Amino acid sequence: MNYKKNDRVVLDIEDMGAEGEGVGKMDGFPLFVKDALIGDRIEARITKLKTRYGYARLEKVLVPSSFRVEPVCRFHRQCGGCQLQALSYEKQLEFKQNKIRNNLVRIGGFSEALVSGCMEPIVGMDERFHYRNKAQVPIGTDKEGNLVAGFYAGRTHNIIANTDCALGVAENREILEVILAYMRENHICAYDETTGNGLVRHVLIRKGFASGELMVCIVINGSRLPEGEKLVERLRRIPGMTSVSYSVNRKNTNVIMGDEIHMLWGSRTIQDRIGGILFSVSPLSFYQVNPVQTKKLYDLAVEYADLKGMETVWDLYCGIGTISLFMAQKAGQVYGVEVVPQAIEDARENARLNGVGNAAFFVGKAEDVLPEKYEREGIRADVIVVDPPRKGCDEKCLDTILKMRPERIVYVSCDSATLARDLKVLCDGGYELMRWRGVDMFGMTVHVESIVLLSKLKSNKLKHTNVELEIDELDLAAAESKATYEEIKDYVLN
Ligand code: SAH
Repeated sequence: MNYKKNDRVVLDIEDMGAEGEGVGKMDGFPLFVKDALIGDRIEARITKLKTRYGYARLEKVLVPSSFRVEPVCRFHRQCGGCQLQALSYEKQLEFKQNKIRNNLVRIGGFSEALVSGCMEPIVGMDERFHYRNKAQVPIGTDKEGNLVAGFYAGRTHNIIANTDCALGVAENREILEVILAYMRENHICAYDETTGNGLVRHVLIRKGFASGELMVCIVINGSRLPEGEKLVERLRRIPGMTSVSYSVNRKNTNVIMGDEIHMLWGSRTIQDRIGGILFSVSPLSFYQVNPVQTKKLYDLAVEYADLKGMETVWDLYCGIGTISLFMAQKAGQVYGVEVVPQAIEDARENARLNGVGNAAFFVGKAEDVLPEKYEREGIRADVIVVDPPRKGCDEKCLDTILKMRPERIVYVSCDSATLARDLKVLCDGGYELMRWRGVDMFGMTVHVESIVLLSKLKSNKLKHTNVELEIDELDLAAAESKATYEEIKDYVLN
């Protein structure tokens, strides 16, 4: 090849990588270009060349794509959060649907025909901004020594000051300004991850969209928050404020929250309502960030589960019992399993709050609890729902599901690559793909939720046959860029 680093090239962007980068070919050689959109003709500078693909920086858009729209946030290129803000929403949905479809074919080994035949149209969002009920905002110091709250610039830990992210709620801004003012007045320093000094690391803000209740939790590198009552005094004046706490995290880690919560004021949890069910959420529990789309997702989960009223349903990775309580209305008995003890406390409280008597919850890893309950206690399953974190299900968990042989498996996933990997195992073990659908919960970002229905194969049917996987060079490149984007994903999804 005749090209080298720093060469300028003109590219027609023909495709998009898994992280939303534009992909253009130079004499058949693929280059990944951040911020370039499908349909653009661009001038780019080569930044890195590998044997089978390379990277380039967008220098100039020569002919803009017809899918380009005016981004609402002036930081959208610097910020790692909204990879797709300049792409029309309809095209974002198409990108996401294709991403799931491609993973099912390439990683799952399902035929194109089967994947297309089982597909239902992706569920889009009506409100494309300000949809997040949760913000986790890093606090730091800028080059001039000023305290700042904002977001990490893509692939780095440099904080760009912005208290008003376009995906978050309007209250974030006032809450963050109050916290920064309190820190300045009381000479409280931001945490510096290079030296390990300083106190305030992150601020977690949550809002119950239905209840209007607000929660603030300050994550600190120390045992107490000095003059905490002064902060409380100001924060509680903000309408909706219900819960103010701090969490101690003294570890040198990218994990945001510490293990414990210390209350400063108000109640430990805030409440929210999704589809008529009341949920109590504590700072350490997982709670879906987009409640409007969550309602649509859970309704689909119930539809896919197709319950008649007597079934035993397992909800693995149940968080605060959200899917469990949706299912409980139509099932005989629901069992939820979740590894975070505080989330199980919330789940039990949520069952009580809603007068649900047919849901029981267990703390532990799905891969430990499920085999134990099945092998030792003989508890069976008609339907198993799984909604694991990005890394997907543990093999032992999948093995036990296969042994339990439920009629239906509903797989809810926030990472269609691990979803496809796990579906392959389940379908090799006697299940067949019936329905799948994308649900957009994270507009402007490359992330997408998927929901899949598998049915037990009738014994006279042939087993799903897998084609030998051939991961092409674009997948390799996408896999490689994934690691460096890990933190962006954490910012967006956590
Ligand atoms: N179904 C819930 C939560 C889904 S998020 C909802 O829709 O709100 C995934 C959940 O899995 C998180 O609550 C996380 O704490 C939990 N988790 C992660 N690893 C786990 C494991 N090995 N076993 C059980 N739960 C796990």
